[in-house]
Amino acid sequence: MNDEQRRAPYDICPRPEPIDVPAQTPLAPPIYPAAVYQCADTDEAERLLAGSEAGYVYSREGHPNGQMLAEKCRQLHGAERAVVCSSGMAALSAAVLALVEAGDHVVASSQLYGRNLQLLTSELGRMGVRSTVVDTCDVTATAQAIDDKTRLIVAETISNPLLRVADVAALARHAHARTALLLIDNTFAGPTVCRPIEHGADLVLESLTKIMNGHSDVLLGVLCGSAAHWQRVHTAVAVWGLSPSPFDCWLATRGIGTLALRAERAGENAQQVAQFLVTRGEVEAVHYPGLIDHVDHELARRQFQRGFGSVVTFTLRGGRAAADAFIRAAKQIPFCPSLGDLSTTLTHPESTSHRTVSPLVREGLGIRGGTIRLSVGIESIEAIREALAEGLSAL
Ligand code: PLP
Repeated sequence: MNDEQRRAPYDICPRPEPIDVPAQTPLAPPIYPAAVYQCADTDEAERLLAGSEAGYVYSREGHPNGQMLAEKCRQLHGAERAVVCSSGMAALSAAVLALVEAGDHVVASSQLYGRNLQLLTSELGRMGVRSTVVDTCDVTATAQAIDDKTRLIVAETISNPLLRVADVAALARHAHARTALLLIDNTFAGPTVCRPIEHGADLVLESLTKIMNGHSDVLLGVLCGSAAHWQRVHTAVAVWGLSPSPFDCWLATRGIGTLALRAERAGENAQQVAQFLVTRGEVEAVHYPGLIDHVDHELARRQFQRGFGSVVTFTLRGGRAAADAFIRAAKQIPFCPSLGDLSTTLTHPESTSHRTVSPLVREGLGIRGGTIRLSVGIESIEAIREALAEGLSAL
Protein backbone atom coordinates (compact mmCIF):
# COMPACT_ATOMS: atom_id res chain seq x y z
CA MET A 1 0.00 0.00 0.00
CA ASN A 2 1.53 3.34 -0.99
CA ASP A 3 1.12 6.66 0.89
CA GLU A 4 -1.78 7.79 -1.22
CA GLN A 5 -3.68 4.50 -0.66
CA ARG A 6 -2.97 4.64 3.10
CA ARG A 7 -4.48 8.16 3.51
CA ALA A 8 -8.06 8.13 4.80
CA PRO A 9 -10.52 10.02 2.55
CA TYR A 10 -10.85 12.78 5.17
CA ASP A 11 -7.07 13.38 5.07
CA ILE A 12 -7.36 14.51 1.48
CA CYS A 13 -8.42 18.07 0.89
CA PRO A 14 -11.96 17.85 -0.54
CA ARG A 15 -11.11 20.55 -3.06
CA PRO A 16 -9.99 19.01 -6.39
CA GLU A 17 -6.67 20.00 -7.91
CA PRO A 18 -7.25 22.66 -10.60
CA ILE A 19 -7.13 21.10 -14.03
CA ASP A 20 -5.71 22.65 -17.18
CA VAL A 21 -8.77 23.80 -19.09
CA PRO A 22 -8.32 23.37 -22.85
CA ALA A 23 -7.90 26.59 -24.79
CA GLN A 24 -11.19 26.35 -26.76
CA THR A 25 -13.76 28.97 -25.80
CA PRO A 26 -17.08 27.44 -24.67
CA LEU A 27 -20.07 28.85 -26.57
CA ALA A 28 -22.14 29.17 -23.39
CA PRO A 29 -20.51 31.28 -20.66
CA PRO A 30 -19.27 29.29 -17.66
CA ILE A 31 -20.67 29.84 -14.14
CA TYR A 32 -18.17 30.97 -11.51
CA PRO A 33 -19.85 30.23 -8.19
CA ALA A 34 -16.60 30.81 -6.22
CA ALA A 35 -17.03 33.14 -3.25
CA VAL A 36 -13.26 33.69 -3.12
CA TYR A 37 -10.28 33.52 -5.49
CA GLN A 38 -6.65 32.57 -4.83
CA CYS A 39 -3.94 35.24 -4.88
CA ALA A 40 -0.53 34.34 -6.35
CA ASP A 41 1.38 36.38 -3.76
CA THR A 42 1.02 39.30 -1.37
CA ASP A 43 1.77 41.93 -4.03
CA GLU A 44 -0.93 40.55 -6.30
CA ALA A 45 -3.40 40.46 -3.39
CA GLU A 46 -2.72 44.14 -2.70
CA ARG A 47 -3.03 45.13 -6.36
CA LEU A 48 -6.29 43.21 -6.84
CA LEU A 49 -7.86 44.55 -3.66
CA ALA A 50 -6.82 48.12 -4.47
CA GLY A 51 -8.29 47.75 -7.95
CA SER A 52 -5.00 48.67 -9.65
CA GLU A 53 -5.05 45.26 -11.36
CA ALA A 54 -8.18 43.76 -12.95
CA GLY A 55 -9.29 40.49 -11.35
CA TYR A 56 -11.29 38.96 -8.55
CA VAL A 57 -10.60 38.25 -4.89
CA TYR A 58 -13.92 38.11 -3.06
CA SER A 59 -17.21 37.83 -4.93
CA ARG A 60 -19.03 40.53 -2.90
CA GLU A 61 -16.58 42.94 -4.57
CA GLY A 62 -17.23 41.51 -8.03
CA HIS A 63 -17.29 38.24 -9.98
CA PRO A 64 -17.15 37.21 -13.67
CA ASN A 65 -20.87 36.43 -14.05
CA GLY A 66 -21.85 39.80 -12.54
CA GLN A 67 -19.36 41.56 -14.78
CA MET A 68 -20.61 39.75 -17.93
CA LEU A 69 -24.22 40.70 -17.18
CA ALA A 70 -23.33 44.29 -16.26
CA GLU A 71 -21.44 44.66 -19.54
CA LYS A 72 -24.50 43.47 -21.51
CA CYS A 73 -26.74 45.97 -19.67
CA ARG A 74 -24.17 48.75 -20.13
CA GLN A 75 -24.19 48.18 -23.89
CA LEU A 76 -27.98 47.97 -24.06
CA HIS A 77 -28.28 51.36 -22.35
CA GLY A 78 -25.29 53.02 -24.03
CA ALA A 79 -23.95 53.86 -20.55
CA GLU A 80 -20.36 54.37 -19.44
CA ARG A 81 -20.75 52.10 -16.43
CA ALA A 82 -23.16 49.45 -15.07
CA VAL A 83 -23.34 47.37 -11.92
CA VAL A 84 -25.64 44.44 -11.22
CA CYS A 85 -27.23 44.19 -7.75
CA SER A 86 -29.19 41.48 -5.95
CA SER A 87 -32.59 43.06 -6.85
CA GLY A 88 -34.10 46.16 -8.40
CA MET A 89 -34.47 47.54 -4.87
CA ALA A 90 -30.77 46.88 -4.22
CA ALA A 91 -29.93 48.86 -7.38
CA LEU A 92 -31.94 51.85 -6.09
CA SER A 93 -30.27 51.44 -2.69
CA ALA A 94 -26.86 51.51 -4.40
CA ALA A 95 -27.70 54.80 -6.14
CA VAL A 96 -29.03 56.43 -3.00
CA LEU A 97 -26.28 55.18 -0.70
CA ALA A 98 -23.63 56.35 -3.17
CA LEU A 99 -25.04 59.75 -4.04
CA VAL A 100 -27.23 61.07 -1.22
CA GLU A 101 -26.33 62.06 2.33
CA ALA A 102 -27.95 63.56 5.42
CA GLY A 103 -29.13 67.12 4.72
CA ASP A 104 -29.81 66.38 1.03
CA HIS A 105 -33.24 66.42 -0.60
CA VAL A 106 -34.75 64.03 -3.17
CA VAL A 107 -37.74 64.48 -5.49
CA ALA A 108 -39.74 61.29 -6.08
CA SER A 109 -42.50 60.70 -8.60
CA SER A 110 -45.89 60.05 -6.99
CA GLN A 111 -46.36 57.15 -9.42
CA LEU A 112 -43.20 55.22 -8.50
CA TYR A 113 -43.32 51.54 -7.60
CA GLY A 114 -44.51 51.49 -3.96
CA ARG A 115 -41.31 50.11 -2.40
CA ASN A 116 -39.22 52.68 -4.32
CA LEU A 117 -41.41 55.43 -2.92
CA GLN A 118 -41.12 53.97 0.59
CA LEU A 119 -37.32 53.87 0.30
CA LEU A 120 -37.08 57.46 -0.96
CA THR A 121 -39.50 58.92 1.61
CA SER A 122 -39.78 57.07 4.94
CA GLU A 123 -36.49 55.15 4.83
CA LEU A 124 -34.40 58.13 3.67
CA GLY A 125 -36.32 60.33 6.12
CA ARG A 126 -34.93 58.19 8.96
CA MET A 127 -31.44 59.05 7.70
CA GLY A 128 -31.93 62.82 7.58
CA VAL A 129 -32.77 63.11 3.88
CA ARG A 130 -35.82 65.23 3.00
CA SER A 131 -38.10 64.18 0.17
CA THR A 132 -40.86 65.75 -1.94
CA VAL A 133 -43.36 63.56 -3.77
CA VAL A 134 -44.66 65.11 -6.97
CA ASP A 135 -46.39 64.10 -10.19
CA THR A 136 -43.34 64.08 -12.47
CA CYS A 137 -45.62 64.09 -15.54
CA ASP A 138 -46.22 67.71 -14.48
CA VAL A 139 -42.82 69.11 -15.42
CA THR A 140 -43.55 72.57 -13.99
CA ALA A 141 -44.56 71.14 -10.61
CA THR A 142 -41.42 68.99 -10.63
CA ALA A 143 -39.22 72.01 -11.38
CA GLN A 144 -40.85 73.87 -8.47
CA ALA A 145 -40.15 70.94 -6.13
CA ILE A 146 -36.38 71.17 -6.73
CA ASP A 147 -34.43 73.20 -4.16
CA ASP A 148 -30.75 73.99 -3.54
CA LYS A 149 -30.24 70.74 -1.65
CA THR A 150 -31.94 68.47 -4.22
CA ARG A 151 -29.48 65.78 -5.18
CA LEU A 152 -31.67 63.25 -6.97
CA ILE A 153 -34.92 63.22 -8.95
CA VAL A 154 -36.44 59.77 -9.45
CA ALA A 155 -39.14 58.95 -12.02
CA GLU A 156 -40.26 55.95 -14.08
CA THR A 157 -40.18 55.93 -17.89
CA ILE A 158 -43.61 54.24 -17.89
CA SER A 159 -45.45 54.37 -14.58
CA ASN A 160 -47.48 51.73 -12.80
CA PRO A 161 -50.35 50.99 -13.33
CA LEU A 162 -51.74 53.72 -15.63
CA LEU A 163 -48.68 53.75 -17.87
CA ARG A 164 -48.03 57.50 -17.84
CA VAL A 165 -44.81 58.42 -19.67
CA ALA A 166 -42.15 60.69 -18.13
CA ASP A 167 -40.63 63.42 -20.33
CA VAL A 168 -37.04 62.41 -19.61
CA ALA A 169 -35.40 65.25 -21.59
CA ALA A 170 -37.49 67.94 -19.85
CA LEU A 171 -36.88 66.44 -16.39
CA ALA A 172 -33.13 66.23 -17.13
CA ARG A 173 -33.02 69.91 -18.18
CA HIS A 174 -34.64 71.00 -14.90
CA ALA A 175 -32.44 68.68 -12.82
CA HIS A 176 -29.23 69.91 -14.43
CA ALA A 177 -30.22 73.56 -14.13
CA ARG A 178 -30.09 73.03 -10.34
CA THR A 179 -27.14 70.51 -10.21
CA ALA A 180 -29.42 67.60 -9.33
CA LEU A 181 -29.14 64.16 -10.97
CA LEU A 182 -31.99 62.42 -12.80
CA LEU A 183 -32.47 58.70 -12.09
CA ILE A 184 -34.97 56.90 -14.33
CA ASP A 185 -36.49 53.54 -13.40
CA ASN A 186 -36.87 51.98 -16.85
CA THR A 187 -38.33 48.64 -15.69
CA PHE A 188 -41.69 48.94 -17.50
CA ALA A 189 -40.01 49.92 -20.78
CA GLY A 190 -36.69 48.06 -20.94
CA PRO A 191 -33.85 49.23 -23.19
CA THR A 192 -35.40 48.01 -26.44
CA VAL A 193 -38.26 50.50 -25.95
CA CYS A 194 -36.38 53.39 -24.31
CA ARG A 195 -32.78 54.31 -23.45
CA PRO A 196 -33.19 57.16 -20.94
CA ILE A 197 -29.47 58.07 -20.91
CA GLU A 198 -29.80 59.14 -24.57
CA HIS A 199 -32.50 61.59 -23.45
CA GLY A 200 -30.36 63.13 -20.71
CA ALA A 201 -30.89 60.90 -17.64
CA ASP A 202 -27.77 60.54 -15.46
CA LEU A 203 -28.65 57.13 -14.10
CA VAL A 204 -30.98 54.36 -15.21
CA LEU A 205 -32.28 51.48 -13.16
CA GLU A 206 -33.86 48.24 -14.33
CA SER A 207 -35.39 45.52 -12.20
CA LEU A 208 -33.84 42.62 -14.15
CA THR A 209 -36.44 40.45 -12.43
CA LYS A 210 -38.93 41.59 -15.08
CA ILE A 211 -38.65 41.60 -18.90
CA MET A 212 -34.85 41.80 -18.99
CA ASN A 213 -34.50 38.24 -17.65
CA GLY A 214 -38.03 37.41 -18.73
CA HIS A 215 -38.41 33.98 -17.16
CA SER A 216 -39.50 34.83 -13.57
CA ASP A 217 -36.69 32.77 -12.07
CA VAL A 218 -34.27 35.38 -10.70
CA LEU A 219 -34.43 38.53 -8.58
CA LEU A 220 -31.83 41.05 -9.83
CA GLY A 221 -31.37 44.72 -10.66
CA VAL A 222 -28.93 46.89 -12.58
CA LEU A 223 -27.83 50.50 -12.23
CA CYS A 224 -26.22 52.21 -15.24
CA GLY A 225 -24.64 55.65 -15.33
CA SER A 226 -21.60 57.75 -16.01
CA ALA A 227 -18.03 57.10 -14.90
CA ALA A 228 -18.08 60.26 -12.77
CA HIS A 229 -20.24 58.62 -10.06
CA TRP A 230 -18.88 55.11 -10.26
CA GLN A 231 -16.28 54.85 -7.51
CA ARG A 232 -18.96 55.74 -4.93
CA VAL A 233 -21.46 53.31 -6.50
CA HIS A 234 -18.95 50.45 -6.48
CA THR A 235 -18.12 51.17 -2.83
CA ALA A 236 -21.84 51.23 -1.87
CA VAL A 237 -22.48 47.84 -3.52
CA ALA A 238 -19.47 46.21 -1.86
CA VAL A 239 -19.83 47.80 1.59
CA TRP A 240 -23.61 47.52 1.99
CA GLY A 241 -23.57 43.98 0.55
CA LEU A 242 -25.83 44.57 -2.45
CA SER A 243 -24.01 42.15 -4.78
CA PRO A 244 -25.83 39.50 -6.84
CA SER A 245 -25.33 35.74 -6.93
CA PRO A 246 -23.24 34.37 -9.84
CA PHE A 247 -25.89 31.77 -10.70
CA ASP A 248 -28.67 34.39 -10.94
CA CYS A 249 -26.41 36.52 -13.15
CA TRP A 250 -25.71 33.54 -15.38
CA LEU A 251 -29.45 32.87 -15.78
CA ALA A 252 -30.21 36.52 -16.54
CA THR A 253 -27.37 36.68 -19.08
CA ARG A 254 -29.11 33.80 -20.83
CA GLY A 255 -32.50 35.56 -20.57
CA ILE A 256 -31.17 38.83 -21.98
CA GLY A 257 -29.95 36.97 -25.06
CA THR A 258 -33.58 36.80 -26.24
CA LEU A 259 -34.71 40.19 -24.88
CA ALA A 260 -35.04 41.91 -28.27
CA LEU A 261 -37.14 39.09 -29.71
CA ARG A 262 -39.32 38.74 -26.62
CA ALA A 263 -39.84 42.49 -26.21
CA GLU A 264 -40.76 42.92 -29.88
CA ARG A 265 -43.29 40.08 -29.83
CA ALA A 266 -44.77 41.05 -26.44
CA GLY A 267 -45.00 44.71 -27.53
CA GLU A 268 -46.83 43.80 -30.75
CA ASN A 269 -49.17 41.56 -28.76
CA ALA A 270 -49.78 44.35 -26.21
CA GLN A 271 -50.76 46.79 -28.96
CA GLN A 272 -53.28 44.28 -30.32
CA VAL A 273 -54.58 43.43 -26.85
CA ALA A 274 -55.18 47.15 -26.16
CA GLN A 275 -57.05 47.52 -29.44
CA PHE A 276 -59.11 44.38 -28.69
CA LEU A 277 -60.07 45.59 -25.20
CA VAL A 278 -61.19 48.99 -26.55
CA THR A 279 -63.86 47.16 -28.58
CA ARG A 280 -65.31 45.31 -25.56
CA GLY A 281 -68.41 46.65 -23.83
CA GLU A 282 -67.39 45.14 -20.46
CA VAL A 283 -64.36 47.47 -20.42
CA GLU A 284 -64.72 51.05 -19.21
CA ALA A 285 -61.19 52.32 -19.98
CA VAL A 286 -57.98 51.04 -21.58
CA HIS A 287 -54.57 52.55 -20.80
CA TYR A 288 -51.70 51.87 -23.21
CA PRO A 289 -49.20 54.46 -24.54
CA GLY A 290 -49.51 52.90 -27.99
CA LEU A 291 -53.18 53.97 -28.27
CA ILE A 292 -53.55 57.31 -30.01
CA ASP A 293 -55.93 58.61 -27.33
CA HIS A 294 -53.49 57.83 -24.47
CA VAL A 295 -52.62 61.11 -22.77
CA ASP A 296 -48.86 60.60 -23.41
CA HIS A 297 -49.04 58.99 -26.85
CA GLU A 298 -47.22 61.81 -28.69
CA LEU A 299 -44.47 61.97 -26.05
CA ALA A 300 -44.10 58.16 -26.19
CA ARG A 301 -43.76 58.30 -30.00
CA ARG A 302 -40.97 60.88 -29.68
CA GLN A 303 -39.13 59.19 -26.84
CA PHE A 304 -39.47 55.47 -27.53
CA GLN A 305 -37.36 53.88 -30.22
CA ARG A 306 -39.40 50.68 -30.71
CA GLY A 307 -42.93 49.90 -29.53
CA PHE A 308 -44.71 51.05 -26.39
CA GLY A 309 -43.96 48.25 -23.91
CA SER A 310 -45.80 45.09 -22.99
CA VAL A 311 -48.07 46.22 -20.14
CA VAL A 312 -51.72 47.11 -20.75
CA THR A 313 -54.03 48.34 -17.99
CA PHE A 314 -57.81 48.32 -18.24
CA THR A 315 -60.76 49.01 -15.98
CA LEU A 316 -63.81 46.76 -16.03
CA ARG A 317 -67.32 48.12 -15.54
CA GLY A 318 -68.69 46.71 -12.27
CA GLY A 319 -65.80 47.44 -9.88
CA ARG A 320 -64.09 44.90 -7.64
CA ALA A 321 -66.79 42.26 -8.13
CA ALA A 322 -66.24 42.38 -11.89
CA ALA A 323 -62.46 42.14 -11.39
CA ASP A 324 -62.93 39.07 -9.17
CA ALA A 325 -65.25 37.40 -11.67
CA PHE A 326 -62.81 38.14 -14.53
CA ILE A 327 -59.79 36.81 -12.60
CA ARG A 328 -61.64 33.60 -11.67
CA ALA A 329 -62.83 33.01 -15.23
CA ALA A 330 -59.58 33.90 -17.03
CA LYS A 331 -58.00 30.57 -16.09
CA GLN A 332 -55.24 30.79 -18.70
CA ILE A 333 -53.89 34.04 -17.24
CA PRO A 334 -52.11 33.60 -13.88
CA PHE A 335 -52.71 36.31 -11.25
CA CYS A 336 -49.10 37.25 -10.32
CA PRO A 337 -48.12 40.66 -8.94
CA SER A 338 -45.12 41.01 -11.26
CA LEU A 339 -44.53 41.56 -14.98
CA GLY A 340 -42.29 40.74 -17.91
CA ASP A 341 -42.72 36.96 -17.99
CA LEU A 342 -42.83 34.89 -21.19
CA SER A 343 -46.50 34.26 -20.59
CA THR A 344 -49.32 36.72 -20.10
CA THR A 345 -50.02 37.41 -16.43
CA LEU A 346 -52.33 39.81 -14.64
CA THR A 347 -52.46 41.69 -11.39
CA HIS A 348 -55.02 43.77 -9.52
CA PRO A 349 -53.43 47.03 -8.27
CA GLU A 350 -56.11 47.84 -5.66
CA SER A 351 -55.50 44.59 -3.73
CA THR A 352 -51.72 44.31 -4.36
CA SER A 353 -49.31 47.16 -5.25
CA HIS A 354 -51.64 49.97 -4.11
CA ARG A 355 -53.43 48.26 -1.20
CA THR A 356 -51.84 50.60 1.38
CA VAL A 357 -52.59 53.74 -0.64
CA SER A 358 -55.64 55.67 0.64
CA PRO A 359 -58.83 55.29 -1.46
CA LEU A 360 -58.75 59.03 -2.22
CA VAL A 361 -55.17 58.93 -3.58
CA ARG A 362 -56.01 55.73 -5.49
CA GLU A 363 -59.00 57.44 -7.06
CA GLY A 364 -56.75 60.39 -8.00
CA LEU A 365 -54.31 57.98 -9.67
CA GLY A 366 -57.21 56.44 -11.61
CA ILE A 367 -57.02 53.04 -9.86
CA ARG A 368 -60.47 51.54 -9.28
CA GLY A 369 -61.77 48.21 -7.98
CA GLY A 370 -62.22 47.04 -11.57
CA THR A 371 -58.69 47.97 -12.69
CA ILE A 372 -56.57 45.07 -13.99
CA ARG A 373 -52.93 45.34 -15.10
CA LEU A 374 -51.97 42.89 -17.79
CA SER A 375 -48.36 41.93 -18.56
CA VAL A 376 -48.65 40.66 -22.11
CA GLY A 377 -46.48 37.68 -23.04
CA ILE A 378 -45.15 36.13 -26.23
CA GLU A 379 -47.92 33.58 -26.86
CA SER A 380 -49.83 33.78 -30.14
CA ILE A 381 -52.21 36.75 -30.20
CA GLU A 382 -55.10 34.36 -30.85
CA ALA A 383 -54.33 32.47 -27.62
CA ILE A 384 -54.16 35.71 -25.61
CA ARG A 385 -57.42 37.05 -27.10
CA GLU A 386 -59.12 33.72 -26.32
CA ALA A 387 -57.86 33.79 -22.71
CA LEU A 388 -59.13 37.36 -22.26
CA ALA A 389 -62.47 36.55 -23.89
CA GLU A 390 -62.86 33.64 -21.46
CA GLY A 391 -62.45 36.07 -18.55
CA LEU A 392 -64.78 38.65 -20.04
CA SER A 393 -67.45 36.02 -20.68
CA ALA A 394 -68.06 35.84 -16.91
CA LEU A 395 -69.24 39.47 -16.80
N1 PLP B 1 -39.10 49.15 -10.18
C1 PLP B 1 -40.30 48.74 -10.62
C2 PLP B 1 -41.02 49.58 -11.61
C3 PLP B 1 -40.88 47.55 -10.15
O1 PLP B 1 -42.08 47.18 -10.58
C4 PLP B 1 -40.16 46.78 -9.19
C5 PLP B 1 -40.72 45.53 -8.66
O2 PLP B 1 -41.85 45.17 -8.92
C6 PLP B 1 -38.92 47.25 -8.76
C7 PLP B 1 -38.41 48.42 -9.27
C8 PLP B 1 -38.13 46.49 -7.74
O3 PLP B 1 -37.49 45.42 -8.35
P1 PLP B 1 -37.15 44.06 -7.59
O4 PLP B 1 -38.45 43.38 -7.30
O5 PLP B 1 -36.28 43.33 -8.56
O6 PLP B 1 -36.43 44.45 -6.34
